[in-house]
Amino acid sequence: MNDTIAVHLPDLEGRLCTDLETRQQMATDLGNILSEIPCAVLRPQSGQDIATVLTAAGQLGLSVTIRGLGRSVYGQAVVGPGGVLIDMSGFNKVHTVEQDRCVVDAGATWTSVLEATIAHGLTPPVLTDFVDLSVGGTLSWGGMGATSFRQGLQVDNVLELEVITTDGALHHCSPEKEADLFYSVLGGMGLVGVMTRVTLRLIAAPKRVRRLQIPYSELAVMQEDLLKLVKERRVDAAEGLIVAPRGKWENLMEISIFYDTDEPDEAFVLCGLHGAVDAITRIDSTYAEFTTRLGDLKTLPCQPTEKPHAHPWWSTMTSQNLSTALIGQLVNSMDASKSGPFDLILTYPVPTAVSRTPLPRVPATEWLFLVANFLCVDAADHVQIAETLEQNRELFEQSAAAHPHGAVDPVCAVDYSKSEWVAHFGDVWPAFEAAKHKYDPLGTLDKARRVF
Ligand SMILES: Cc1cc2nc3c(=O)[nH]c(=O)nc-3n(C[C@H](O)[C@H](O)[C@H](O)COP(=O)(O)OP(=O)(O)OC[C@H]3O[C@@H](n4cnc5c(N)ncnc54)[C@H](O)[C@@H]3O)c2cc1C
Repeated sequence: MNDTIAVHLPDLEGRLCTDLETRQQMATDLGNILSEIPCAVLRPQSGQDIATVLTAAGQLGLSVTIRGLGRSVYGQAVVGPGGVLIDMSGFNKVHTVEQDRCVVDAGATWTSVLEATIAHGLTPPVLTDFVDLSVGGTLSWGGMGATSFRQGLQVDNVLELEVITTDGALHHCSPEKEADLFYSVLGGMGLVGVMTRVTLRLIAAPKRVRRLQIPYSELAVMQEDLLKLVKERRVDAAEGLIVAPRGKWENLMEISIFYDTDEPDEAFVLCGLHGAVDAITRIDSTYAEFTTRLGDLKTLPCQPTEKPHAHPWWSTMTSQNLSTALIGQLVNSMDASKSGPFDLILTYPVPTAVSRTPLPRVPATEWLFLVANFLCVDAADHVQIAETLEQNRELFEQSAAAHPHGAVDPVCAVDYSKSEWVAHFGDVWPAFEAAKHKYDPLGTLDKARRVF
């Protein structure tokens, strides 16, 4: 089976690997929960390689899954049975940097994009907290970060895409040109086409960042203060963390002020806050150090040390009140005394009006609160993994019951049903479905997911 596609292909510039070792390496993702060995792994060197493999797979009835860096947690970058994997991680050049934009390969990491743009005093407006992720990977769901309350999601800051569809055609799409393709690939979870090149919007990068960490005894009070700070635009980045460094869960507000030379006005920022301002921690750094504060995958504390870990992470976007209740349930279910260094819950507010791209569907509330749980589990502890997945589902159902549109987070560890996907997308579903049928009529891309 694994040689079927290889014999149908003309010469490729890159490699189609059918050896067992390569295929096994690509069988799972960071989540380490679901796995399936691909029948072949394409390491493309050109768009033509991708076009050739997509059309051959379609003719042979094989499914194809696109993979950035494989840092998904629940099979989003794992093939369906007998499927072909396109590994975009080597397709990673930063081509050009101009004053207001840069052009990069979709397999480039945000780390390499930042290296290139900061050298010109520029930055993408929104970054994920952890930047060792591929551009195509985060744009395939949306990409949200601590500056989203001002700048929207990463998909809201894309100017143009180069996309290869399953018939092998190369498209240049944007809000003005083939907009149906543009808006179904951004947030389209790798189900409509392969992003090969991306034109990203850039803004001026600050030189320095002052991070202020303030403990809060009450979660709800911290969330209220976060909302106040971002509504009044007193800070440039804002997040709430629930962490257990001392064996019990603690709430920590982390707010950042971007600046060039003048000292930040901390008194203005901190005025009227209800946290333990006298116990504040200050971290001053360059902007580059701030953006890479979580390091890369090797330095991430949730990475395997003496034993492999699984990452049954859960996240949703919901209203302020429900976010407080859901975090309360998460905290009650997790033993803080056994928590690992990366076990944390993240929360922050974003006004839904800043999310302008249709597919990362957000709840129909004025403000959404992100709730994201980064729990690491011993990969051999199948009972705890199963219990965590069960809890993820219960929490998702509460979120979906309150806000049917926008409760699905495509990157987390929940097995959504087709009807849950349709309910999540709501009135944008018909356009997404039409684009899928138009650009991938054979359903070649990722049959394993139950979206279509
Ligand atoms: C430590 C950590 C922190 C994170 N923090 C954040 C955060 O702050 N904000 C946030 O928004 N997300 C965050 N994420 C989630 C992250 O955005 C997603 O998991 C992302 O998909 C991972 O990127 P990747 O390159 O590993 O993608 P992969 O896991 O390889 O792929 C993810 C999806 O993208 C599709 N895809 C990949 N490349 C392409 C392409 N070229 N064309 C079309 N589809 C493609 C795949 O088919 C798959 O469906 C975090 C993840 C980790 C591991």
